[in-house]
Amino acid sequence: MTTSSSSAQLLDGKALSIQVLDELKATVSARIESGKSQPGLATVLVGEDPASHIYVRNKRRACEKVGVASFHHELAAETGQEQLLDLITKLNADDRVHGILVQLPLPKEFDYDENEVLAAIDAKKDADGFHPLNQGALLQGRPAPVPCTPKGVMRLLDLTNLDLSGMHAVVVGRSNIVGKPVALLLLARNMTVTICHSRTKDLATEVRRADVVVAAVGVAELVQGDWIKPGAVVLDVGINRNQEGKLVGDVEFFGACQNAAWITPVPGGVGPMTIGMLLQNTVEAANLYD
Ligand code: NDP
Repeated sequence: MTTSSSSAQLLDGKALSIQVLDELKATVSARIESGKSQPGLATVLVGEDPASHIYVRNKRRACEKVGVASFHHELAAETGQEQLLDLITKLNADDRVHGILVQLPLPKEFDYDENEVLAAIDAKKDADGFHPLNQGALLQGRPAPVPCTPKGVMRLLDLTNLDLSGMHAVVVGRSNIVGKPVALLLLARNMTVTICHSRTKDLATEVRRADVVVAAVGVAELVQGDWIKPGAVVLDVGINRNQEGKLVGDVEFFGACQNAAWITPVPGGVGPMTIGMLLQNTVEAANLYD
């Protein structure tokens, strides 16, 4: 943790993610030295979306850093659902593969059914934690792979060492990949959780009551600095470009720093944690096998 220009302390996702990868590297080499298999992650990329190519490249590079084997599959956009499902069936049966990640979104111009694709992945190999069985397990508080960005948010929140029990959390955003799972993780820590979305009538009033704010919206600086309760923790998942083309979060950072006790910067906060949590899910999946 470092101190920002005002009163808030920065929750440094870049530093924490380096630590997570270092720890995973040590875990992986200890596994291999003890005669266990090398953890393996299969990445599946369909189509030519440039952002998806960058995300997958970064994930594969992180695999290399920690000693996780990476099996990459690139399919043309027009490949089609059946062939994609065939590949997933093969990866499910491949002993070298402990985690499977299908990069989303699938090409919009072809008729892919993302829900069917995610459900086809063996739930034990679901490195992203998006399989319906694993999302159900999260709802019931049973152990299962947890979606990577929410898991990273919780690791950052733990840097504060706060006793979260009974505190009030406000999550802005209710997507299946961030908002809903993060709300369940906060609830599992005995927080009182409010979930806000585009139909919420008075977002400012809801956020003003929060001891912990998680913003996962995708609207640049939607959450105003003066909405933040003094002493609150602010975890900003959003990645947006503002009108000047600068990378900003969903929270108005400098204003929020005046009130928050802890805050994640954008970039360098939640973003870097996601890949570390993906590899952690892969190594945890390998532990289920040997
Ligand atoms: P989605 O678009 O799937 O969900 C956005 C949510 O925000 C929806 O629930 C929507 O409400 C809500 N919302 C939209 N506008 C408003 C508003 N004006 N007031 C209140 N709520 C609103 O986004 P994701 O969850 O996938 O991603 C959210 C952000 O996080 C994005 O900026 C994305 O880039 C970033 N992200 C970052 C990651 C990382 O750091 N590694 C990983 C994943 C996402 P409704 O449901 O009513 O439409």
